Order: sequence, then structure tokens, then C-alpha cells
Amino acid sequence: MDFYLPLIIGTAQTMLIVIVRYFAASGGFALWTARRGIIAGPADPIRRRRQVSAEIRWSILSALIYGLPAGLMLAGWRFYGLTAIRSDFGLGMALWWLPSIALYLFLHDSWFYWTHRWMHGPRLFARVHAVHHASKPPTAWAAMSFSPLEALSGALLIPVLACLIPIHWSALGVVLTIATVMGVTNHMGWEMFPARWVNGAFGRHIITASHHEEHHKRYNCNYGLYFRFWDQRCGTDRGLASFPGPAMGRHAPELTASSAA
Ligand SMILES: [Zn+2]
Ligand SMILES: [Zn+2]
Repeated sequence: MDFYLPLIIGTAQTMLIVIVRYFAASGGFALWTARRGIIAGPADPIRRRRQVSAEIRWSILSALIYGLPAGLMLAGWRFYGLTAIRSDFGLGMALWWLPSIALYLFLHDSWFYWTHRWMHGPRLFARVHAVHHASKPPTAWAAMSFSPLEALSGALLIPVLACLIPIHWSALGVVLTIATVMGVTNHMGWEMFPARWVNGAFGRHIITASHHEEHHKRYNCNYGLYFRFWDQRCGTDRGLASFPGPAMGRHAPELTASSAA
């Protein structure tokens, strides 16, 4: 029992942290957009309420699923010394700090792109991915609105990488923060970045709400998570959405042509 107790407690703690993180991040951005007068999700208030409550229910279930491998990873690090997460910060780690973040984000993005495309196949879509696309259009609460199988596929990669590729705990914290913030902001129905960024070099490479919104509209394009790299390489990039009506906001981007070949 002495061996298993830290695992059980660590996993339960992590599940709780992921749920609190979800409510803080999704709730915070939902409040921010609402205070700007932006109505994300369906225009009809009854449909919107129904959609948001479904998004929250699925996201709580996903948070519990995400918490399991993440809890095992953290307990493995803190109590058993089993992961590649490092606490020491020498010169080597200082030099590796930024590249480790970039590598983790690139690998996470690659995993997401290919599993996401796979889930859009006719057989898997109905069984696995339809839950996420039931949000039409999505809101900030849809950040973790996944079926259990999709949540499991999303939950596994970073804990697996943390067992294989050395990373400082603070760099891992940055990766998880970027994952959380982008997961929420890409669904919140409003572009938070200035139009000149979104239509400039930043937006050509980095995915923001304008890019992911187009995925939720068209289904068969814009599959990436953080970077447009794979979409552009594979011809699945269809450019950026423009948010209609009140969701235009101050910084809504212009509709741009596909940047894919
Ligand atoms: Zn989405
Ligand atoms: Zn999709």
C-alpha cells in the first residue's frame, strides 16, 4: 500500500487540478468574451444553454480522463524518479529549456494533427469525434468537450513524452499552459489577436481562433492544434474564418485565401 498510496493520491489530486484548471480557463475566457458583448455558440439562447451544458459535462469527464495519465506522470516524477522531468537547472538545462518547449509543442501538434485527421474518417467520426463537433459553433467551454476515447488519445501524449524526452518541470508547465490557453481561446468564437498579427507572419504559422473556427465550419480542413505546419504541408489548410455579426469584435480578421498549395 505504501507503494500505491502516492499514486492514488497524486492521481486524484491531478484530476481535481485539471477540473479546476478547466473551469478557471474556460470560465475566465467565456467571461472575458461575454463582457465584450460577444455571444459565442448558437444564436438561439435555448440551444446555446443546452450546448454549453453538454460542453461542460463532456469536459468534466475528459478532465477526469486527462488527470489519470497526468497524475501517474507526476507521481512517477515526484515519488519514484521514473520520468525524464528534471528539477536541476544547470547550463545544459538552460540551453535545452526553450528547444524542449518547441519540441514538445511540435510533437504534440503532430500527434494531434494526424489523430484528428484519422478521427474525421467515416467510421471513427461518429463513434469518437462527433461529440466535439456537436458544438456548432463552439464556445470557450468546448475546450475539453471530447468523447472518452478522444480524451484518452489527447491525454496520453505529453505523459509519454515526459517519460522519454528530458524537460525541466518549469518548461513542462509552459507547455501545459500553452495547451490550456490555446485549447480554450481557439474555441471561444472571437479572435483575441490583432488583425495585423493574424493576417501577418504570426498568423501564417500559429493557429488562432480564426483558423480553428474554419475547421468547425467545414470539418475537412484546418486540423492542426498549435501550428499550421502540417495543414500547409498536406494541403488541408483552408485559411482563416471571419467571425460574423457581433462576434466580429475589434480585431476580427479579414477572410483570407487559402495559404495551402
Ligand atoms: Zn475544436
Ligand atoms: Zn475535428
